[in-house]
Amino acid sequence: MKFGMMFSDISRALFRRPATQKYPYVRQHNPARLRSFLKWNQQACTGCGLCAMDCPANAIHVTILDRKEKRFVFGYRPDQCLFCGQCVESCRQGSLSMVNDNWELAALDKKPFSVYFGETDDITKVLAGEPASGPETPEKA
Ligand code: SF4
Ligand code: SF4
Repeated sequence: MKFGMMFSDISRALFRRPATQKYPYVRQHNPARLRSFLKWNQQACTGCGLCAMDCPANAIHVTILDRKEKRFVFGYRPDQCLFCGQCVESCRQGSLSMVNDNWELAALDKKPFSVYFGETDDITKVLAGEPASGPETPEKA
């Protein structure tokens, strides 16, 4: 490279604004269709398990404690999630959606990556390993 060209490149780099942004101090608006954390609507859910069956990453596990009473525990693993949106497409009840403002999911330990939605008592039972209603518990094929 000739000295003149090199000098002009250096001077341009010195005075041009950097292409990078000062994240996290400067933030862009989240695109409206950004797929980030999964949101579950317990009232709409029927416990059919289609979301878990269609999830390519095995990131969802639905446990049915009482179908009539709509006592479901929806387990979600954001560290396995591909944010593909397939579960949202598969849910015929409109029970699932992906928010666009919860995408900063990095953590130093694994705890935030085991997420359980449902009633607190039901989650406690599931975590304690109490049996759910056996055959009705949807399993991934
Ligand atoms: S967005 Fe994709 S990978 Fe994530 S839970 Fe839904 S189906 Fe699974
Ligand atoms: S597909 Fe929808 S209704 Fe069926 S278990 Fe999943 S969230 Fe519930």
